[in-house]
Amino acid sequence: MSTMEGCSLLKEVQIGAKHYSIVECDSDHFELLLEELGANNHEARSFIAYDQQLIVVRSELHQDTKKEYIIHELLHAMLDDAGLSEDVEVEHFVKALAPRLTIFLTTQSFI
Ligand SMILES: [Zn+2]
Repeated sequence: MSTMEGCSLLKEVQIGAKHYSIVECDSDHFELLLEELGANNHEARSFIAYDQQLIVVRSELHQDTKKEYIIHELLHAMLDDAGLSEDVEVEHFVKALAPRLTIFLTTQSFI
């Protein structure tokens, strides 16, 4: 994909049976990719492309914010894998959970 040039791979993860690539992109390439993949929110700081198994976050974000948005999209990937596609309710749930889960995962050795 030509528009991947302003992007770099952060991680590859497995959600259910699917492998997702998590990439960060500079602002220009984030917008290009968003358009190319048909995602619709141009104010987004991150997005997920289910068919391409790709999670994209803006590289200029602060590290803390970046983590939270990656967790946000990973939750969408998990819910999608469980058959719950994006709607208003799912978005509320993900928005409520993502910041709290991010703090939990990054500050505690729970397991
Ligand atoms: Zn969301």
